[in-house]
Amino acid sequence: PAQSMEELVSLCKRRGFIFQGSEIYGGLQGFYDYGPLGVELKNNIKAAWWRSNVYERDDMEGLDASIIMHRLVLRHSGHEATFSDPMVDNKKNNKRYRLDHLVKDQKADVLARVAELMGQSADNFPALVAALNANPAQASTALREAGVRDPFSGEIGEWTEPKPFNMMFKTTIGPVADEDSYGYLRPETAQGIFTNFKNVVDSTSRRLPFGIAQIGKAFRNEITPRNFIFRVRELEQMEIEFFCVPGTDEQWHEHWLEKRLSWWEAQGVPRSKIEILDVPAEDLAHYSKRTYDLMYDYPTLGHEEIEGIANRSDYDLGSHTKAQGELGLVAKVEENNDSVAKLTIPHPETNKPVVPFVIEPSAGVDRAMLAVLSEAFTKETLENGSERIVLKLKPHLAPIKVAVIPLARNREEITSVAKAIKAELQGLGLGRVLYEDSGNIGKAYRRHDEVGTPYCVTVDFDTVGKGEDPALTDTVTVRDRDTLAQERVKISELSAWIQAKLR
Ligand code: ATP
Repeated sequence: PAQSMEELVSLCKRRGFIFQGSEIYGGLQGFYDYGPLGVELKNNIKAAWWRSNVYERDDMEGLDASIIMHRLVLRHSGHEATFSDPMVDNKKNNKRYRLDHLVKDQKADVLARVAELMGQSADNFPALVAALNANPAQASTALREAGVRDPFSGEIGEWTEPKPFNMMFKTTIGPVADEDSYGYLRPETAQGIFTNFKNVVDSTSRRLPFGIAQIGKAFRNEITPRNFIFRVRELEQMEIEFFCVPGTDEQWHEHWLEKRLSWWEAQGVPRSKIEILDVPAEDLAHYSKRTYDLMYDYPTLGHEEIEGIANRSDYDLGSHTKAQGELGLVAKVEENNDSVAKLTIPHPETNKPVVPFVIEPSAGVDRAMLAVLSEAFTKETLENGSERIVLKLKPHLAPIKVAVIPLARNREEITSVAKAIKAELQGLGLGRVLYEDSGNIGKAYRRHDEVGTPYCVTVDFDTVGKGEDPALTDTVTVRDRDTLAQERVKISELSAWIQAKLR
């Protein structure tokens, strides 16, 4: 695995996985562009998730809802009121920070002093942040008295009181910008699932338990985007809302925890690198009955959330439904006089309308990319003493499945065979196959090691009957990324050989 974030960032830029957004104009913080290889890896991760959660199950439907949503959706979901992070400003330079990030970044003695001034322990960080939030005036004094430094200038700051900062992006809709003509870019894909609950049930005749899966972009105006693609303002999520009979929710929660861990394992992210955080009651989001956060051990960052698996009770459908009073909701919801739909489904035993409970496994695609890349990243010393970087990606995730390399790029008899092989392998539907004539063979191998191409197929003079050994006519060399073994394979058997290996 990667030893530092640095080496991943450098590989991603060098080989065309990930670029800074709007880079030629100085870059836009918190936005990244996925390059030629990044888009392939990302698509492969999403396809693996979709296959496992939609196609291989019999209790799931898919959805692709729109990104811009009616403001009432985000009002009744609770996001207008509560989707905020606490921020503080440094009056000396007008820089703004997310309170918990600012405090976490301080040296241990400063952190301890802040905790002491707040009557808290530095070991219980969530409780400290909660205390800072709850007592803004005392917090601003504590930050000043402890000598909390500005991460940008390095100097001791003059800190304001913490204030909540809502992270939703608002945008005007239509030609007239009046008071009500605005919507939000969704801060999570989940709300599109809840607002389509009735549509999906009516159009598919689903009964409980079943889920709706969605992959798509979400937007969060993070106060301090950082750590490469770990915390960005435009992100992508893979979310499931799994609807079940109240009372069976705890079992389903365990089911999904298990399923998700084994999915990560199949992507090359082992359980041993994921800590399961059973989120303490006082840190739970307002909608959550219980949440497991999967904390992956990122290089440089340490254990940070890669996926949250929440038991959201009947909070979401209960918040978006009409006639809330008649439904015996368990969750505490705000009154809704705007919704025109009753979000119930017949109880499978009694047939009485019920608002189901929801289990939500929610994973970030960008954080998945980072984890997958990090686990695959390998530095090896070869027998001859040289070092190579190789991405040992699972074949189904590799951006390029096979590179077909003509040994001489100007010899028609060789290039035409290589092109024909490329076309044939491409036709297998395994993913991208690359015709690779960009440099010498050694460089090509190095490049394909670094981007994780499982096999390189080389067409040489022997292949076309112009080499030393006539027995090698109509065969090619296949090189294995991980073992470096080279094998001569008949062209007529190549498709079957590759298919068997990449299955
Ligand atoms: P954090 O505490 O790290 O801000 P969160 O608890 O707000 O994350 P959720 O709201 O649970 O995150 O979102 C579900 C998933 O979406 C996360 O597990 C993560 O993989 C991804 N995600 C959330 N925010 C971001 C972001 N700013 N950049 C990249 N991925 C994100």
